[in-house]
Amino acid sequence: MSSIAQDLDAVRGTLPKGVRLVAVSKFHPIDKLMEAYNAGQRAFGESRVQEIVQKIPQMPSDVHWHFIGHLQTNKVRQLLATRAIDLIESVDSEHLLAAIDREAERLGIVARVLLQVHVAAEETKFGFSPLDLLDYFSNRRFEQLKATHICGIMAMASNTDETERVKADFAAAAALKKQIIDMCPDLRGFDHLSMGMSDDYPLAIAAGADIVRVGSKIFGLREY
Ligand SMILES: *Cc1c(COP(=O)(O)O)cnc(C)c1O
Repeated sequence: MSSIAQDLDAVRGTLPKGVRLVAVSKFHPIDKLMEAYNAGQRAFGESRVQEIVQKIPQMPSDVHWHFIGHLQTNKVRQLLATRAIDLIESVDSEHLLAAIDREAERLGIVARVLLQVHVAAEETKFGFSPLDLLDYFSNRRFEQLKATHICGIMAMASNTDETERVKADFAAAAALKKQIIDMCPDLRGFDHLSMGMSDDYPLAIAAGADIVRVGSKIFGLREY
């Protein structure tokens, strides 16, 4: 067994039923992705449009591609034109959401997305603030979408060794998801909570994550 297959098995062994593993393959070459594929992995996560559009045609067509990086509005067309994106997890503004919706409608497809919420301690430009996210749903602006299905939320915890802080971030994201569902009980298919990476995914699962995005624990360290 290759070491990628072994590491994949080790991670899988820790996942409860119903938790989906996205193998984050950014910056790794196709032969490594194929090792994971041959070990049964089907969901892969990439964070750059340039890279994912190159990789898609080189991989088997039953791969589920998740886009997890910051997406610039002017790259939406290129990304959706692949018609191979299962889920855009990193929708971090209403502006981007509107751009995705327009392009999906134009292509005659339904874009599946998660809204990225910013719960971590770090300053970042990316992600809805919890207040903006609640405002979006309480004013039911999702009803304006024509070709986009919001499937849930995505979050990242603070980049720290302090377990309590990480737990609090994950709990905040899980609470937001619940608040949104309580506020909009008619919302269909708002099911997913994507959180947890190599160093913190067990804590994310304990807090309610049903999608985890694990890279270095499977593929080793990235060379940027
Ligand atoms: C890179 C990345 C991951 C995976 O990180 P690892 O620490 O290598 O597991 C998960 N989520 C996002 C959004 C990422 O950019």
